[in-house]
Amino acid sequence: MSLNIEKLRGLFPILHQEVHGKPLVYFDNAATTQKPQAVIDALTGYYQHDNANIHRGAHALADRSTQYFESTREAVRDFIHAKEAAEIILTKGTTESINLVAATFGRKFIGEGDEIIISTLEHHSNIVPWQMLCQENGAILKVIPINDAGEIEYDEFLKLLSKRTKLVSIVHASNALGTINPVKEIIAKAHEVGARVLLDGAQSTSHLTVDVQALDCDFLAFSAHKLYGPTGLGVLYGKREILESMPPYQGGGEMIKEVSFDGTTYNEIPFKFEAGTPNIGDVIAFKKALDFIQDLGKDAIKAHEDELLQYAAEQLSEIKGFIPVGVAKDKVSVLSFCINGMHPFDVGVMLDARGIAVRTGHHCTQPLMKRLGLEGTVRASFAVYNTKSEIDVLADAVQKIARIKN
Ligand code: PLP
Repeated sequence: MSLNIEKLRGLFPILHQEVHGKPLVYFDNAATTQKPQAVIDALTGYYQHDNANIHRGAHALADRSTQYFESTREAVRDFIHAKEAAEIILTKGTTESINLVAATFGRKFIGEGDEIIISTLEHHSNIVPWQMLCQENGAILKVIPINDAGEIEYDEFLKLLSKRTKLVSIVHASNALGTINPVKEIIAKAHEVGARVLLDGAQSTSHLTVDVQALDCDFLAFSAHKLYGPTGLGVLYGKREILESMPPYQGGGEMIKEVSFDGTTYNEIPFKFEAGTPNIGDVIAFKKALDFIQDLGKDAIKAHEDELLQYAAEQLSEIKGFIPVGVAKDKVSVLSFCINGMHPFDVGVMLDARGIAVRTGHHCTQPLMKRLGLEGTVRASFAVYNTKSEIDVLADAVQKIARIKN
């Protein structure tokens, strides 16, 4: 079923404004998506009516907050089809989720001479935590190379895999190029050598149906703010038996069963990994974002975004001086490009002057940019509320800008 995009745009107040005297065209969705009114209302509603600390209060507001908070956890479970809500840990975001795995699973199960495999496509948040771990414990970081289209070289991945591999931590969909990795095959192969697999789902979860049981991934990390939800909130999914075998991340309230000066016992999962008062209001509001996505349906969202991507690629490739960056066969709705003879930042500033918001630079993927021989790119990334007429505005602007040097 096709979506009524005009009606849907009405749910996002921020889209209806002018920037530099031009209607806003928001194409920076891979950085963060905009929030529907229902999410904003849920956040203010929580502070207006329900604000209380969760899990330990003996009063109505605390009960209510706890119930709403835990119903988001259940909604996340359903969203990624996890077996049970206890496998859903609420974090600050993808970055914290990956750091949590590095600091707990990594410190306990990865030692000197063990290997961790990542890919050239990774965001810095799926590179640096592993470099830090390797520095600490003498493990070795291996990197899957990519081809010029921006796809991982699968055969090279197979060559890197060995009994020494303890973890494959890989991006599901690249934020810089949009490439979708063949993660189901990667996971199956990694499991054959006994390695665990972490998927960085920061970009994939908003565009694709991600079913953790069907994929059989061991961990999945993602951020609420790329899913029409609030900032500073994310998810770490982990299989129960793995989470239970991991030591806690941080110490404090919530994560304990009993504390004494002789020793402390830890709480059950997921609470063992959720020390301190969490971001209650945003967690509660996040449920509305998940409801929004589920109501539209992932297939309908993907179909619309695929159409936008294809249309944008067609329109822009007509332009003299337009250089697409990353032309993988399987992509989410990210269009990275350069303009011959122009710095991406200058292009971004000129687009901004026309009301068009894009991202420019290295997109937190400096090793990828180095591999591509680029300082950075211009990135237009599309969400469900974007339209073909907005892409026409972009194409027209890019044409005028490209003409300066081409
Ligand atoms: N991984 C990918 C692929 C991303 O796109 C991002 C954010 O851009 C992250 C990780 C980090 O997410 P966050 O900053 O929300 O922790």
